[in-house]
Amino acid sequence: MGDGLTSGPLERLFTGSAWAEGPVWVPSSQTVRWSDIPNNRIMEFDAATGVTKDYAVGVGFTNGRTLDADGSVVQCSHGGRRVERDHAGTVTELVDSFQGRRLNSPNDVVVARDSSVWFTDPPYGILPGTDQGYEGEQEYGGCYVFRFEPASDSLTAVITDLVYPNGLAFSPDESVLYVTDTAGPDRGVPLRIVAYDVRGGVCSPSGLTLELGEGHPADGLRVDVQGRIWTSAGNSIRVYSPSFQLLDTIEVPEKVSNLCFGGPDGQDLYITASTSLYRIRSTTRDAAARGTIAL
Ligand code: MG
Repeated sequence: MGDGLTSGPLERLFTGSAWAEGPVWVPSSQTVRWSDIPNNRIMEFDAATGVTKDYAVGVGFTNGRTLDADGSVVQCSHGGRRVERDHAGTVTELVDSFQGRRLNSPNDVVVARDSSVWFTDPPYGILPGTDQGYEGEQEYGGCYVFRFEPASDSLTAVITDLVYPNGLAFSPDESVLYVTDTAGPDRGVPLRIVAYDVRGGVCSPSGLTLELGEGHPADGLRVDVQGRIWTSAGNSIRVYSPSFQLLDTIEVPEKVSNLCFGGPDGQDLYITASTSLYRIRSTTRDAAARGTIAL
């Protein structure tokens, strides 16, 4: 592994989640927070002590999360079929419906610099037999990517042509939004990452799509300050250029769900993979990192 984008060993920091997802680095506590979705709990790894503990239990099957401009955690809730905000332990709803119909099961979320909240809404948390939420109907009839504007409490469907949109991340200048589609060949589409041009809060296909091979589904992804895309890809993380040329592969012993940059200087790459949390040192940091990360 390498090519200079990562160095040192891949460390397994914790194992014991049933399905680890949705990691975010929380600067105020110097911790990594993630979802153990089937066990309906949120876990937290303390980077200073190396201790992992439950942050909260009975949490409505949370999934992906990010930080807002205040450093509060914005997270997706399968069980609540909503996107919510955790401010110092107090959780409040941001949005749970589109045109009067409930959302499916919001999966992953990013906050843009204008404070708008962008999230994906596939049905994984409401499918029959799911252990990641509660069975339910798809009320609005699609699986969209949404843009929520807290100030005006308005929700707009910005991408409607993906089957199961999942992970998402902006390019450093927020002119491109990358979205993974985890539906796959069973649902008539390749496993893929699709790039959209973003202007004035509106998305249009850029024409750029990366098709990942069978066995390498991309779930969560992040973009670094150089614009490179770091995506989960089966039992690995792959790093791509903005034009989707493969730059590096980091092998991981378990199926990777998601990743985040963190640590005191923002350059530690934390990886949620099946039952475990891993860390490897990188040479870069997240393009969307908030000012709370010291450089
Ligand atoms: Mg996901």
